[in-house]
Amino acid sequence: MTELIVVVGAAVLSGGRLLAARRSAPVELAGRWELPGGKVEPGESPERALVRELREELGVSAEVVRRVPGEYALRAPYVLRVWTVRLLAGSSEPLALQDHDALRWLTADEVWDVDWLDQDVPAVAEVARVVWGE
Ligand code: C5P
Repeated sequence: MTELIVVVGAAVLSGGRLLAARRSAPVELAGRWELPGGKVEPGESPERALVRELREELGVSAEVVRRVPGEYALRAPYVLRVWTVRLLAGSSEPLALQDHDALRWLTADEVWDVDWLDQDVPAVAEVARVVWGE
């Protein structure tokens, strides 16, 4: 049996808004929006992977707050798990975009205004439920 590989997704929250990031690559995903994150490396905890990915992808320092319930199937052997995250002082704005070309801070009313990756849609719905009670 193939081991699952966890992809961590960050629901970065600030002032009641959720950060959405627009992918710039690969071409088939470019223009779609996602919760920033990436693969957990061997021997790495998901929480450390989240902090590392946010530093690499957005140039921010962050801390993990709590796990959002659920596990979302990606292309095998990957599964997406999500945590809420907050930015640390001095990191209030993402700076250095690596895999993305736009960011938006979404209010509860705006959360479905962006074209989320299909596989992120159920994860974002769960984030909306736990964060905004929707
Ligand atoms: O960024 P990285 O290449 O490590 O991401 C691993 C895989 O997880 C990619 O195929 C990416 O499209 C997917 N992913 C996703 N939703 C996210 C973050 C990553 O489907 N929120």
